Amino acid sequence: MARAKRKAVVVFSGGLDSVCLCAHLAPSHSLYGITFSYGQRAAQEVRAAKRLARKVGLVEHRTVDIGFMRSLYAKTNVLTDPKKRLPSAFDYSIVVPVRNAVFLSIASAWAYTIGAQTVAYGAHTGDEPYPDCRPAFSQALEAALNLGESDGIRSHKRRAITILSPAKDGLSKADMIKKGYRAFGDAIFSAWSCYSSSTRLHCGACESCLNRRAAFAKSKIQDKTKYREPAPLRKMYTCPIPVGLD
Ligand SMILES: [Zn+2]
Repeated sequence: MARAKRKAVVVFSGGLDSVCLCAHLAPSHSLYGITFSYGQRAAQEVRAAKRLARKVGLVEHRTVDIGFMRSLYAKTNVLTDPKKRLPSAFDYSIVVPVRNAVFLSIASAWAYTIGAQTVAYGAHTGDEPYPDCRPAFSQALEAALNLGESDGIRSHKRRAITILSPAKDGLSKADMIKKGYRAFGDAIFSAWSCYSSSTRLHCGACESCLNRRAAFAKSKIQDKTKYREPAPLRKMYTCPIPVGLD
């Protein structure tokens, strides 16, 4: 008889990385997806998560409303403050304060509840500029969370968790796209990457859209995403187009 798969709680934003992460984990885990509505300007990603939940094989999918975070984050970052301009290259204004600590803590609370031993998020090697995407961070958080449940773990009332990410496995966004495309085919193109909220199409010019486009180019998979500004990639890298307000 086949061994039962481990349970994994997956931070499932509806973005490309979270979708491809499901392909990466599915062979060894049954997947419980959690999507956060945290006041982000890109509401499309929550809709994409709901659309894709079944396709990627989530056993259960929760959407959690933590929209109050928008007012706590105030003017710290461009993703929850729609009045700020979206940059087309990495800038610290894209970093939402300890966003992954917030997401992973809530995801871990659910993991302890359902006895999942894995908590996973889509950080990959290209996310290095984001401190809370680095393996050093996720390992420290994992240790802190298990310490916070240490007595429960010792007495077998809880199971210790491990936080996994493609970054921890040394995998790039292009590596993950290949896995996602192999598992889910064209469905991965309906994953949402764009930071903007004003359009039904990806803008094609914000930092996240550029990362998506570059990763498809690198993976040699034809990118069927429809972009509002599909300027040649190389030109955009040397001369980034300023991205307007939503
Ligand atoms: Zn965009």
